[in-house]
Amino acid sequence: MTQKFKVFLVDKTEDNQFHTSIVEQNFDNLPPGEVLIQVAYSSLNYKDALSATGHPGVTQKFPHVPGIDAAGTVVKSSNSQYKKDDLVIVTGYDLGMNTWGGFAEYIRVPAEWVVPLPNGLTLEESMILGTAGLTAGLCINALIENSISPALGEIIVTGATGGVGSLAVSILSQLAYQVVAATGKTESHQWLKQLGATTIIDRFLTDNHQRKPLLPERWAGAVDTVGGNTLATILKSTQYNGCVAACGLVGGAELPTTVYPFILRGVSLIGIDSVQCSGLKRYGSRHAARTQIWAKLGKEWKPHDLAAISHTIGLEQLPEKIEGILNGKIQGRTVVNLQQ
Ligand code: NDP
Repeated sequence: MTQKFKVFLVDKTEDNQFHTSIVEQNFDNLPPGEVLIQVAYSSLNYKDALSATGHPGVTQKFPHVPGIDAAGTVVKSSNSQYKKDDLVIVTGYDLGMNTWGGFAEYIRVPAEWVVPLPNGLTLEESMILGTAGLTAGLCINALIENSISPALGEIIVTGATGGVGSLAVSILSQLAYQVVAATGKTESHQWLKQLGATTIIDRFLTDNHQRKPLLPERWAGAVDTVGGNTLATILKSTQYNGCVAACGLVGGAELPTTVYPFILRGVSLIGIDSVQCSGLKRYGSRHAARTQIWAKLGKEWKPHDLAAISHTIGLEQLPEKIEGILNGKIQGRTVVNLQQ
C-alpha cells in the first residue's frame, strides 16, 4: 500500500470562495472507521456538485472530498463481516457529505455503510448505477408496493435525461411499463427512445401554472426528480389511486399543491430517501432494504443498456462535469475512474 493517495479536494478560502484541486493526502487524514477501501470507481451525482461548490445543506466541513458513491476492494477491516479483497460498494449515509467521499483513491467508513458487490454487477457497473440507480430502484419499488402494474397505464419520469431519470426510464421499460419521459433536451429524444421511453414530452408540459386544483387524469404513476411546480402538476394529473414517487428538487423545493389530488383521487405521494433507506419497513433493517434493492439491480432490474447510459472520466475532468450537472447539461451517468 502506498503512503499517500490522490484525492479531489474542495477547499474554502477566508473570503468564502470554494476551489478544487487534485492533491495527495496521508492515510491519517481519512476519518476513523472499520473498513478501509481502495476505490476503483465513483460517480458524479447532483449532490456531489452541490458539495463541491460549498452548498451548506450538503457539506459544512472543509477541506472536503466529495463523492457520495464508491465501489472498490477492502484493504483492511476490523469488522468480521468484511475481509481483505472483498469487492464492495458504499453509497449514501454521510459519505461525501461531511465524511470524505469517493472522489479519492481510498475511503474509510463504518461497516454498516458497506454493501457487498451484488451478484450480476461489476464494480464499474455498480457505479453506473450508484446512488442514482439505487434511487430509481427505490422509486420503482414504491410504485410496485402501491400496486401500480404496467396494465394501469403510463408512468411519467421527469428529469428524464438525468442520472436518476434515465435509469428509471430504462428499468421501467424493461419491466414492461409504458414510460413517458419528460425532458428539456430536444437533442436527447432519440436516446430516450433507445432507453425504452414510449413517449417523450417537453418538460414545460409538466409545469402547469393554471390555478386549477385538478387536471385531466393521465398518469398511473410517476418518478419525479424535479419537485416544485412540476411535482404539483403531476399530482394534479395522476389517475385515481395512482402513486407518485418523489425524490428530487432540481426544479425547486417548494410544493405549491392542494389536498384535492389526495382526498378526491386517492393519490399517494411517496417520499424516497436513498441516504438512509429507512422507510422500507417490510425489509427489516435499513441495511437489508439497501442490500435487497441492490440485489434486484444486479438481476431483473439491471438495465440492458448500462454502457449507453454512462461515460467515464478521471478526477481531472470533474470541474467541467460539475458545472455541467449544475446547469442541467449532462445526459445519463458520469462514472469516475480512480484507477487511471
Ligand atoms: P441530474 O443532474 O443527473 O439530472 C437532473 C435532470 O433534471 C437534468 O438532467 C434535467 O433533465 C432536469 N432538470 C435540470 N434542471 C431542471 C429544472 N430547472 N427544471 C426541470 N428539470 C430540470 O441529477 P440526478 O439524477 O443525480 O438527481 C436528480 C434529483 O434527484 C436531484 O434533485 C437530486 O438531489 C435528487 N436525488 C435524490 C435522492 C434521494 O435519495 N432522494 C438520491 C439521488 C438524487 P432534462 O433535461 O431531461 O429535463
